[in-house]
Amino acid sequence: MVTFHIGECIRKTKQQIPLSSEEIRQLVQGVTAEPPIPDYQLAAWLMAVCFSGLNDDETAALTMAMRDSGQVMHWELDGPVADKHSTGGVGDKTTLILAPIVAACGVYMPKMSGRGLGHTGGTIDKLESIPGLSTALDPADCLALVKKAGFAVAMQTGNLAPADKKLYALRDVTETVDSIPLICASIMSKKLATGADHILLDVKVGSGAFMKNDTDAAELARRMLSAAKADGRDCTAILTDMDRPLGMCIGNAIEVREAIEVLAGDTGSELGTFCITLAAELLRMAGRGTAAQCLKMAEQAVTSGAAMERLAMMIAGQGGDARVTENPALLKLSACERTLKAPRDGWISAMLSEEIGRASVLLGAGRMTKNDAIDPGAGIRLCCKNGDAVKRGDALLTMYAEKESQLDEAEAMLRQAILLADEKPEPAPLIHSTYSTAQ
Ligand code: URA
Repeated sequence: MVTFHIGECIRKTKQQIPLSSEEIRQLVQGVTAEPPIPDYQLAAWLMAVCFSGLNDDETAALTMAMRDSGQVMHWELDGPVADKHSTGGVGDKTTLILAPIVAACGVYMPKMSGRGLGHTGGTIDKLESIPGLSTALDPADCLALVKKAGFAVAMQTGNLAPADKKLYALRDVTETVDSIPLICASIMSKKLATGADHILLDVKVGSGAFMKNDTDAAELARRMLSAAKADGRDCTAILTDMDRPLGMCIGNAIEVREAIEVLAGDTGSELGTFCITLAAELLRMAGRGTAAQCLKMAEQAVTSGAAMERLAMMIAGQGGDARVTENPALLKLSACERTLKAPRDGWISAMLSEEIGRASVLLGAGRMTKNDAIDPGAGIRLCCKNGDAVKRGDALLTMYAEKESQLDEAEAMLRQAILLADEKPEPAPLIHSTYSTAQ
Protein backbone atom coordinates (compact mmCIF):
# COMPACT_ATOMS: atom_id res chain seq x y z
CA MET A 1 0.00 0.00 0.00
CA VAL A 2 1.23 3.52 -0.86
CA THR A 3 2.11 5.57 2.24
CA PHE A 4 -0.50 8.25 2.80
CA HIS A 5 0.47 11.83 3.65
CA ILE A 6 -2.29 14.36 4.23
CA GLY A 7 0.24 17.18 3.62
CA GLU A 8 0.84 15.76 0.13
CA CYS A 9 -2.93 15.77 -0.56
CA ILE A 10 -3.17 19.42 0.55
CA ARG A 11 -0.24 20.37 -1.71
CA LYS A 12 -1.63 18.51 -4.73
CA THR A 13 -5.14 19.91 -4.39
CA LYS A 14 -3.75 23.41 -3.86
CA GLN A 15 -1.78 23.02 -7.12
CA GLN A 16 -4.74 21.40 -8.95
CA ILE A 17 -2.92 18.08 -9.29
CA PRO A 18 -5.69 15.43 -9.20
CA LEU A 19 -5.70 13.01 -6.24
CA SER A 20 -6.04 9.30 -7.01
CA SER A 21 -9.15 7.43 -5.78
CA GLU A 22 -6.89 5.64 -3.31
CA GLU A 23 -5.58 8.92 -1.87
CA ILE A 24 -9.15 10.19 -1.48
CA ARG A 25 -10.24 6.91 0.12
CA GLN A 26 -7.41 7.11 2.66
CA LEU A 27 -8.12 10.78 3.34
CA VAL A 28 -11.78 10.00 4.10
CA GLN A 29 -10.82 7.00 6.23
CA GLY A 30 -8.57 9.35 8.17
CA VAL A 31 -11.53 11.60 8.98
CA THR A 32 -13.15 8.99 11.24
CA ALA A 33 -10.01 6.96 12.16
CA GLU A 34 -8.65 6.80 15.71
CA PRO A 35 -6.68 9.01 15.99
CA PRO A 36 -8.21 11.07 13.16
CA ILE A 37 -6.37 13.40 10.79
CA PRO A 38 -6.12 16.66 12.80
CA ASP A 39 -8.84 19.22 12.13
CA TYR A 40 -6.28 21.88 11.05
CA GLN A 41 -5.06 19.65 8.21
CA LEU A 42 -8.55 18.65 7.13
CA ALA A 43 -9.60 22.32 7.21
CA ALA A 44 -6.56 23.24 5.08
CA TRP A 45 -7.51 20.58 2.52
CA LEU A 46 -11.15 21.73 2.49
CA MET A 47 -10.00 25.31 1.88
CA ALA A 48 -7.71 24.10 -0.93
CA VAL A 49 -10.77 22.41 -2.51
CA CYS A 50 -12.72 25.67 -2.21
CA PHE A 51 -10.04 27.57 -4.15
CA SER A 52 -8.79 24.92 -6.60
CA GLY A 53 -11.82 22.63 -7.02
CA LEU A 54 -11.90 18.88 -7.67
CA ASN A 55 -12.46 17.23 -11.05
CA ASP A 56 -15.41 14.88 -11.73
CA ASP A 57 -13.43 11.71 -10.93
CA GLU A 58 -12.18 13.14 -7.64
CA THR A 59 -15.70 14.31 -6.74
CA ALA A 60 -17.14 10.84 -7.46
CA ALA A 61 -14.33 9.16 -5.46
CA LEU A 62 -14.92 11.52 -2.53
CA THR A 63 -18.68 10.83 -2.64
CA MET A 64 -18.22 7.03 -2.67
CA ALA A 65 -15.59 7.09 0.10
CA MET A 66 -17.90 9.22 2.28
CA ARG A 67 -20.84 6.93 1.47
CA ASP A 68 -18.78 3.94 2.63
CA SER A 69 -17.64 5.63 5.85
CA GLY A 70 -20.75 4.21 7.58
CA GLN A 71 -23.76 2.00 7.07
CA VAL A 72 -25.11 1.60 3.52
CA MET A 73 -28.81 0.68 3.67
CA HIS A 74 -30.45 -2.07 1.60
CA TRP A 75 -34.24 -2.21 1.78
CA GLU A 76 -35.95 -5.60 1.56
CA LEU A 77 -39.10 -4.36 -0.16
CA ASP A 78 -41.27 -5.79 -2.93
CA GLY A 79 -41.44 -2.61 -5.03
CA PRO A 80 -39.34 0.33 -6.23
CA VAL A 81 -37.64 2.46 -3.58
CA ALA A 82 -37.42 6.20 -4.19
CA ASP A 83 -35.91 9.18 -2.45
CA LYS A 84 -36.15 12.94 -2.84
CA HIS A 85 -33.72 15.55 -1.61
CA SER A 86 -33.92 19.31 -1.51
CA THR A 87 -30.71 21.31 -1.31
CA GLY A 88 -32.41 23.58 1.24
CA GLY A 89 -34.92 26.38 1.00
CA VAL A 90 -37.45 28.59 2.75
CA GLY A 91 -41.02 27.29 3.14
CA ASP A 92 -40.01 23.96 1.60
CA LYS A 93 -42.53 21.39 2.84
CA THR A 94 -42.38 19.32 -0.38
CA THR A 95 -41.50 16.03 1.38
CA LEU A 96 -44.63 16.21 3.56
CA ILE A 97 -46.79 16.32 0.42
CA LEU A 98 -44.77 14.34 -2.11
CA ALA A 99 -43.92 11.30 0.05
CA PRO A 100 -47.55 10.36 0.85
CA ILE A 101 -48.52 10.84 -2.81
CA VAL A 102 -45.69 8.62 -4.04
CA ALA A 103 -46.46 6.01 -1.33
CA ALA A 104 -50.15 6.00 -2.31
CA CYS A 105 -49.06 5.19 -5.88
CA GLY A 106 -47.07 2.08 -4.93
CA VAL A 107 -43.54 3.45 -4.61
CA TYR A 108 -41.76 3.04 -1.26
CA MET A 109 -40.05 6.01 0.34
CA PRO A 110 -37.94 5.42 3.47
CA LYS A 111 -36.87 9.00 3.98
CA MET A 112 -33.94 10.21 6.06
CA SER A 113 -34.25 13.93 6.70
CA GLY A 114 -32.44 16.68 8.54
CA ARG A 115 -33.15 19.63 10.78
CA GLY A 116 -33.15 23.27 9.72
CA LEU A 117 -29.80 24.72 8.71
CA GLY A 118 -29.27 28.50 9.00
CA HIS A 119 -32.20 30.31 7.42
CA THR A 120 -33.48 27.12 5.71
CA GLY A 121 -36.06 24.85 7.35
CA GLY A 122 -35.79 21.08 7.92
CA THR A 123 -38.41 18.34 7.56
CA ILE A 124 -37.57 16.82 10.97
CA ASP A 125 -38.31 20.09 12.81
CA LYS A 126 -41.57 20.48 10.88
CA LEU A 127 -42.74 16.93 11.64
CA GLU A 128 -41.82 17.21 15.32
CA SER A 129 -44.40 20.01 15.62
CA ILE A 130 -47.04 17.24 15.41
CA PRO A 131 -47.91 16.30 19.02
CA GLY A 132 -46.28 13.00 20.03
CA LEU A 133 -44.47 12.34 16.73
CA SER A 134 -40.95 10.92 16.97
CA THR A 135 -38.43 10.80 14.13
CA ALA A 136 -35.88 8.72 16.06
CA LEU A 137 -36.75 5.45 14.32
CA ASP A 138 -34.46 2.45 14.40
CA PRO A 139 -33.99 0.69 11.02
CA ALA A 140 -36.34 -2.22 11.91
CA ASP A 141 -39.20 0.12 12.96
CA CYS A 142 -38.59 2.27 9.89
CA LEU A 143 -38.80 -0.78 7.60
CA ALA A 144 -41.98 -2.05 9.30
CA LEU A 145 -43.66 1.36 8.87
CA VAL A 146 -42.52 1.69 5.25
CA LYS A 147 -44.05 -1.73 4.51
CA LYS A 148 -47.35 -0.58 6.06
CA ALA A 149 -47.68 3.10 5.10
CA GLY A 150 -45.35 3.18 2.09
CA PHE A 151 -43.16 5.78 3.72
CA ALA A 152 -41.56 6.88 6.97
CA VAL A 153 -39.47 9.92 7.85
CA ALA A 154 -36.54 9.30 10.17
CA MET A 155 -33.83 11.50 11.57
CA GLN A 156 -30.51 10.65 9.98
CA THR A 157 -28.66 8.22 12.23
CA GLY A 158 -25.07 8.94 13.30
CA ASN A 159 -23.89 5.91 11.36
CA LEU A 160 -24.99 7.19 7.94
CA ALA A 161 -21.97 8.78 6.19
CA PRO A 162 -20.23 9.75 9.49
CA ALA A 163 -17.30 11.25 7.53
CA ASP A 164 -19.74 13.83 6.15
CA LYS A 165 -20.99 14.62 9.62
CA LYS A 166 -17.45 15.46 10.76
CA LEU A 167 -16.46 17.30 7.56
CA TYR A 168 -19.74 19.24 7.49
CA ALA A 169 -19.22 20.48 11.06
CA LEU A 170 -15.69 21.61 10.10
CA ARG A 171 -16.91 23.28 6.90
CA ASP A 172 -19.58 25.11 8.85
CA VAL A 173 -16.98 26.92 10.97
CA THR A 174 -14.21 27.37 8.38
CA GLU A 175 -16.22 29.12 5.62
CA THR A 176 -15.84 26.10 3.34
CA VAL A 177 -19.50 25.19 2.79
CA ASP A 178 -19.94 26.90 -0.57
CA SER A 179 -17.85 24.59 -2.74
CA ILE A 180 -19.73 22.69 -5.45
CA PRO A 181 -17.69 19.43 -5.22
CA LEU A 182 -17.92 19.46 -1.40
CA ILE A 183 -21.69 20.09 -1.44
CA CYS A 184 -22.10 17.36 -4.06
CA ALA A 185 -20.11 14.79 -2.03
CA SER A 186 -21.88 15.77 1.19
CA ILE A 187 -25.39 15.41 -0.21
CA MET A 188 -24.80 12.43 -2.50
CA SER A 189 -22.83 10.36 0.03
CA LYS A 190 -25.91 10.45 2.29
CA LYS A 191 -28.36 9.86 -0.57
CA LEU A 192 -26.42 6.87 -1.90
CA ALA A 193 -26.04 5.42 1.62
CA THR A 194 -29.82 5.63 2.05
CA GLY A 195 -30.16 2.94 -0.61
CA ALA A 196 -32.90 4.22 -2.97
CA ASP A 197 -32.95 3.09 -6.63
CA HIS A 198 -34.53 6.33 -7.87
CA ILE A 199 -33.40 9.71 -6.55
CA LEU A 200 -35.04 13.05 -7.30
CA LEU A 201 -32.90 16.08 -6.46
CA ASP A 202 -34.63 19.41 -5.97
CA VAL A 203 -31.77 21.86 -6.52
CA LYS A 204 -32.87 25.22 -5.17
CA VAL A 205 -31.57 28.31 -6.94
CA GLY A 206 -31.89 31.97 -5.96
CA SER A 207 -31.45 34.36 -3.07
CA GLY A 208 -32.69 31.92 -0.41
CA ALA A 209 -30.60 28.96 -1.64
CA PHE A 210 -26.96 27.88 -1.36
CA MET A 211 -26.74 28.21 -5.17
CA LYS A 212 -27.48 31.82 -6.06
CA ASN A 213 -27.57 31.47 -9.86
CA ASP A 214 -28.57 28.93 -12.52
CA THR A 215 -24.99 28.40 -13.74
CA ASP A 216 -23.78 27.21 -10.32
CA ALA A 217 -26.98 25.22 -9.68
CA ALA A 218 -26.64 23.45 -13.06
CA GLU A 219 -23.00 22.62 -12.28
CA LEU A 220 -24.00 21.20 -8.87
CA ALA A 221 -26.77 19.18 -10.57
CA ARG A 222 -24.31 17.86 -13.19
CA ARG A 223 -21.84 16.74 -10.51
CA MET A 224 -24.54 15.07 -8.41
CA LEU A 225 -25.90 13.21 -11.45
CA SER A 226 -22.41 12.10 -12.36
CA ALA A 227 -21.89 10.69 -8.82
CA ALA A 228 -25.28 8.93 -8.96
CA LYS A 229 -24.46 7.46 -12.36
CA ALA A 230 -21.07 6.22 -11.12
CA ASP A 231 -23.03 4.33 -8.42
CA GLY A 232 -25.58 2.94 -10.92
CA ARG A 233 -28.53 4.97 -9.59
CA ASP A 234 -31.35 6.53 -11.57
CA CYS A 235 -31.34 10.23 -10.74
CA THR A 236 -33.10 13.40 -11.92
CA ALA A 237 -32.20 16.91 -10.80
CA ILE A 238 -34.74 19.71 -11.09
CA LEU A 239 -33.59 23.31 -10.66
CA THR A 240 -36.35 25.16 -8.78
CA ASP A 241 -36.83 28.78 -7.83
CA MET A 242 -35.79 29.99 -4.36
CA ASP A 243 -35.99 33.71 -5.16
CA ARG A 244 -39.32 33.47 -3.32
CA PRO A 245 -40.40 31.17 -0.48
CA LEU A 246 -42.19 27.99 -1.54
CA GLY A 247 -45.91 28.25 -0.79
CA MET A 248 -47.48 30.70 1.65
CA CYS A 249 -46.19 29.51 5.06
CA ILE A 250 -42.76 29.50 6.69
CA GLY A 251 -42.19 27.77 10.03
CA ASN A 252 -42.96 24.34 11.44
CA ALA A 253 -46.56 23.67 12.59
CA ILE A 254 -47.72 26.30 10.10
CA GLU A 255 -46.01 24.45 7.22
CA VAL A 256 -47.51 21.11 8.27
CA ARG A 257 -50.91 22.83 8.21
CA GLU A 258 -50.21 24.06 4.67
CA ALA A 259 -49.11 20.58 3.54
CA ILE A 260 -52.33 19.11 4.96
CA GLU A 261 -54.36 21.74 3.04
CA VAL A 262 -52.73 20.61 -0.22
CA LEU A 263 -53.38 16.93 0.53
CA ALA A 264 -56.98 17.85 1.40
CA GLY A 265 -57.43 18.85 -2.24
CA ASP A 266 -55.73 22.22 -2.80
CA THR A 267 -54.00 20.88 -5.93
CA GLY A 268 -54.40 24.10 -7.93
CA SER A 269 -52.18 26.26 -5.71
CA GLU A 270 -48.60 26.95 -6.79
CA LEU A 271 -47.37 24.64 -4.00
CA GLY A 272 -49.86 21.90 -4.92
CA THR A 273 -48.93 22.00 -8.60
CA PHE A 274 -45.23 21.99 -7.72
CA CYS A 275 -45.46 18.93 -5.44
CA ILE A 276 -47.64 16.99 -7.86
CA THR A 277 -45.19 17.72 -10.70
CA LEU A 278 -42.25 16.45 -8.63
CA ALA A 279 -44.19 13.42 -7.36
CA ALA A 280 -45.18 12.54 -10.94
CA GLU A 281 -41.54 12.71 -12.05
CA LEU A 282 -40.53 10.32 -9.26
CA LEU A 283 -43.34 7.93 -10.22
CA ARG A 284 -42.21 8.06 -13.87
CA MET A 285 -38.63 7.32 -12.83
CA ALA A 286 -39.87 4.36 -10.77
CA GLY A 287 -41.58 2.92 -13.85
CA ARG A 288 -45.20 3.61 -12.87
CA GLY A 289 -46.14 4.91 -16.36
CA THR A 290 -45.61 7.68 -18.87
CA ALA A 291 -45.18 11.28 -17.71
CA ALA A 292 -48.86 12.02 -18.47
CA GLN A 293 -50.09 8.86 -16.70
CA CYS A 294 -47.97 9.61 -13.64
CA LEU A 295 -49.25 13.17 -13.44
CA LYS A 296 -52.83 11.87 -13.45
CA MET A 297 -51.96 9.19 -10.89
CA ALA A 298 -50.37 11.77 -8.56
CA GLU A 299 -53.39 14.10 -8.85
CA GLN A 300 -55.80 11.23 -8.17
CA ALA A 301 -53.82 10.19 -5.10
CA VAL A 302 -54.68 13.62 -3.68
CA THR A 303 -58.28 13.98 -4.90
CA SER A 304 -59.21 10.43 -3.78
CA GLY A 305 -57.84 11.08 -0.28
CA ALA A 306 -55.39 8.15 -0.63
CA ALA A 307 -52.33 10.36 -0.05
CA MET A 308 -53.87 11.89 3.10
CA GLU A 309 -54.58 8.38 4.41
CA ARG A 310 -50.89 7.55 3.95
CA LEU A 311 -49.89 10.69 5.82
CA ALA A 312 -52.23 9.76 8.70
CA MET A 313 -50.77 6.22 8.77
CA MET A 314 -47.23 7.55 8.90
CA ILE A 315 -48.03 10.05 11.66
CA ALA A 316 -49.77 7.38 13.78
CA GLY A 317 -46.94 4.88 13.05
CA GLN A 318 -44.41 7.39 14.38
CA GLY A 319 -46.43 7.99 17.57
CA GLY A 320 -48.04 11.27 16.47
CA ASP A 321 -51.61 12.52 16.73
CA ALA A 322 -53.03 11.64 13.29
CA ARG A 323 -56.18 13.69 14.02
CA VAL A 324 -54.19 16.70 12.74
CA THR A 325 -54.90 15.48 9.20
CA GLU A 326 -58.63 16.09 9.81
CA ASN A 327 -58.24 19.08 12.09
CA PRO A 328 -55.03 21.02 11.28
CA ALA A 329 -55.98 23.58 13.99
CA LEU A 330 -54.67 20.99 16.50
CA LEU A 331 -51.26 22.19 15.29
CA LYS A 332 -51.01 25.22 17.55
CA LEU A 333 -49.55 28.53 16.41
CA SER A 334 -47.73 30.80 18.88
CA ALA A 335 -49.85 33.18 20.94
CA CYS A 336 -48.50 36.57 19.77
CA GLU A 337 -49.36 37.57 16.23
CA ARG A 338 -48.95 40.69 14.12
CA THR A 339 -49.91 41.52 10.55
CA LEU A 340 -47.73 43.71 8.31
CA LYS A 341 -49.58 46.02 5.95
CA ALA A 342 -48.55 47.40 2.56
CA PRO A 343 -47.13 50.93 3.01
CA ARG A 344 -48.42 51.99 -0.44
CA ASP A 345 -50.14 50.75 -3.61
CA GLY A 346 -47.96 48.67 -5.95
CA TRP A 347 -46.98 45.26 -7.21
CA ILE A 348 -44.96 42.77 -5.18
CA SER A 349 -41.72 42.69 -7.16
CA ALA A 350 -39.63 40.55 -4.77
CA MET A 351 -39.94 38.54 -1.59
CA LEU A 352 -36.33 38.07 -0.48
CA SER A 353 -36.45 34.51 0.72
CA GLU A 354 -33.19 34.53 2.66
CA GLU A 355 -34.37 37.52 4.72
CA ILE A 356 -37.79 35.92 5.21
CA GLY A 357 -36.06 32.72 6.37
CA ARG A 358 -33.89 34.74 8.77
CA ALA A 359 -36.96 36.55 10.10
CA SER A 360 -38.62 33.18 10.79
CA VAL A 361 -35.52 32.22 12.82
CA LEU A 362 -35.88 35.46 14.83
CA LEU A 363 -39.51 34.51 15.52
CA GLY A 364 -38.29 31.20 16.98
CA ALA A 365 -38.97 28.84 14.05
CA GLY A 366 -35.24 28.08 13.56
CA ARG A 367 -32.06 27.98 15.60
CA MET A 368 -29.47 30.73 16.14
CA THR A 369 -27.03 28.24 17.70
CA LYS A 370 -26.83 24.48 17.35
CA ASN A 371 -28.44 23.63 20.68
CA ASP A 372 -31.31 26.16 20.65
CA ALA A 373 -34.81 24.79 21.13
CA ILE A 374 -37.23 25.89 18.44
CA ASP A 375 -40.78 27.10 18.92
CA PRO A 376 -42.97 24.80 16.78
CA GLY A 377 -45.77 27.37 16.62
CA ALA A 378 -43.64 30.28 15.38
CA GLY A 379 -43.66 31.34 11.75
CA ILE A 380 -44.99 33.51 8.97
CA ARG A 381 -48.08 33.28 6.77
CA LEU A 382 -47.78 35.26 3.54
CA CYS A 383 -50.94 36.93 2.28
CA CYS A 384 -49.58 37.64 -1.22
CA LYS A 385 -46.74 36.57 -3.52
CA ASN A 386 -44.50 38.00 -6.23
CA GLY A 387 -46.52 39.60 -9.02
CA ASP A 388 -49.63 40.32 -6.88
CA ALA A 389 -51.12 43.82 -6.83
CA VAL A 390 -51.62 45.34 -3.37
CA LYS A 391 -53.30 48.50 -2.11
CA ARG A 392 -51.98 50.61 0.77
CA GLY A 393 -53.09 48.95 4.03
CA ASP A 394 -53.58 45.46 2.52
CA ALA A 395 -52.17 42.63 4.63
CA LEU A 396 -48.77 41.45 3.36
CA LEU A 397 -48.14 38.75 5.96
CA THR A 398 -48.86 37.63 9.52
CA MET A 399 -46.12 36.67 11.99
CA TYR A 400 -46.47 34.31 14.97
CA ALA A 401 -44.11 34.17 17.98
CA GLU A 402 -44.10 33.65 21.73
CA LYS A 403 -42.95 37.19 22.59
CA GLU A 404 -43.79 40.66 21.26
CA SER A 405 -40.05 41.48 21.22
CA GLN A 406 -39.52 38.69 18.66
CA LEU A 407 -42.24 40.22 16.47
CA ASP A 408 -40.48 43.62 16.68
CA GLU A 409 -37.14 42.17 15.54
CA ALA A 410 -38.66 40.11 12.72
CA GLU A 411 -40.82 43.02 11.56
CA ALA A 412 -37.74 45.20 11.01
CA MET A 413 -36.22 42.49 8.82
CA LEU A 414 -39.43 41.67 6.95
CA ARG A 415 -40.05 45.33 6.06
CA GLN A 416 -36.82 45.15 4.01
CA ALA A 417 -37.72 41.76 2.50
CA ILE A 418 -40.86 42.63 0.57
CA LEU A 419 -40.25 45.00 -2.33
CA LEU A 420 -42.97 46.93 -4.13
CA ALA A 421 -42.77 48.22 -7.72
CA ASP A 422 -44.98 50.52 -9.77
CA GLU A 423 -45.19 48.09 -12.71
CA LYS A 424 -46.34 44.46 -12.75
CA PRO A 425 -43.18 42.30 -12.78
CA GLU A 426 -42.70 39.27 -15.05
CA PRO A 427 -43.44 36.18 -12.95
CA ALA A 428 -40.43 33.82 -12.75
CA PRO A 429 -41.22 30.12 -13.35
CA LEU A 430 -40.99 27.85 -10.30
CA ILE A 431 -39.19 25.14 -12.29
CA HIS A 432 -36.12 26.41 -14.16
CA SER A 433 -34.74 23.24 -15.84
CA THR A 434 -34.39 19.46 -15.50
CA TYR A 435 -31.38 17.14 -15.89
CA SER A 436 -31.27 13.34 -15.69
CA THR A 437 -28.83 10.40 -15.62
CA ALA A 438 -31.01 8.92 -18.39
CA GLN A 439 -30.05 11.75 -20.81
N1 URA B 1 -26.71 20.04 2.55
C1 URA B 1 -25.81 19.05 2.87
O1 URA B 1 -26.17 17.99 3.35
N2 URA B 1 -24.52 19.29 2.62
C2 URA B 1 -24.06 20.43 2.08
O2 URA B 1 -22.86 20.56 1.89
C3 URA B 1 -24.98 21.45 1.76
C4 URA B 1 -26.32 21.23 2.01
